[in-house]
Amino acid sequence: MLSRVVNRIYLDHAASTPLDPEVLDAMLPYLRGEFGNASSVHGFGQRARGAIDEARVQVAALIGARDSEIVFTGSGTEADNLAIIGVMHGRSGDGRRNVVVSAIEHHAILNTVKALDRGQPQVTRVAGDESGRIDLARLTEAVDDQTALVSVMLANNETGVIQNVPEVARIAKAKGALVHTDAVQALGKFPLDVNRLGVDLMTLSAHKIYGPKGAGVLYVRSGTRMSALVRGGAQERNRRAGTENVAAIAGFGKAAELADARMAGDMIRIALLRDRLESALIDGTDITVRRNGLATDRIASTSNLSFLGVSGEDLLVALDLEGIAVSTGAACAAGSPEPSHVLKAMGLARERVNSSIRFSLGRSTTAEEIDRAVAIVKAAVARLRRTPLERKHR
Ligand code: PLP
Repeated sequence: MLSRVVNRIYLDHAASTPLDPEVLDAMLPYLRGEFGNASSVHGFGQRARGAIDEARVQVAALIGARDSEIVFTGSGTEADNLAIIGVMHGRSGDGRRNVVVSAIEHHAILNTVKALDRGQPQVTRVAGDESGRIDLARLTEAVDDQTALVSVMLANNETGVIQNVPEVARIAKAKGALVHTDAVQALGKFPLDVNRLGVDLMTLSAHKIYGPKGAGVLYVRSGTRMSALVRGGAQERNRRAGTENVAAIAGFGKAAELADARMAGDMIRIALLRDRLESALIDGTDITVRRNGLATDRIASTSNLSFLGVSGEDLLVALDLEGIAVSTGAACAAGSPEPSHVLKAMGLARERVNSSIRFSLGRSTTAEEIDRAVAIVKAAVARLRRTPLERKHR
């Protein structure tokens, strides 16, 4: 879609974030002279290896892990696939064949377990409620001594709502199941500690924290039995074969270091801006604007609102023409006519699901941008509400 205005406002940081200039500086040497293969014994190789080792320490520090527990992958999606398929193959000998996931997971999890479904394992999907949180009583019922793995995301990509992962881990552990959490949307938003969360596996992605696209991590607790997804050489301790993308990994490391340093300040400021946006749009007199998901227990940067009487898709296009980038549901689902599976799993009415927009703020968002976005959104909603349906869908 082409925007006709120059002054664009980017409110889609949950889809991706701009590369931080310091991250780019950390990557550039490995795109220029330092092109060595990290498996080579000579100096070129050893300098590449050194960059990967440093990044491993930087990412591990951000989540309270040991550097030996960090597996670099080609994306968050690949890390999710590795967690599910790797554990199911790794545990195939111990009689545990079942997987329990939440119904609000990212497609990287849902489509991976759907592929497993065609094999033998039984997959249980636990629904949530209007709050955006999953039902822990149902989760407790679903987990038994046949369960190999429980996977519940930490922060949802559409609503930002945070799940009680320590409690999920307690429920899973009581039955001897392994626990995975997709923390792609949580990383850099609040402090994460794999031990406090009680998880065995955790997925991360660099491009949501001002790092490069195509760089993911699977944290794997030491001693976890699982097999590799990509087979070949012995890279990443035999967990992920293939010559490492040194520049992307170095960028992930730098982005992790910066997230650690800036998180506290960033999130206080961003939460205030998110509240400014919401209180201006949900102004108390207009009951046709509704927040989707809890107001508390969510990451600071995400706001999911429904503008009843307006199609979310139409509003997204209207805002893009005014230079404002937002999203309806997950970016990966954009362009598909399917309504958000997350909002549906929360039990929201069809009209509310179809009229939803996700605003996601970031490090560079300003109060002036929020005020300008509010005015443009209000005008666009009023205009679309006045447009008869038959004209909208001619
Ligand atoms: N999991 C969640 C919750 C996400 O939001 C995303 C990206 O949108 C992913 C996984 C996939 O990560 P990547 O884009 O690195 O493949």
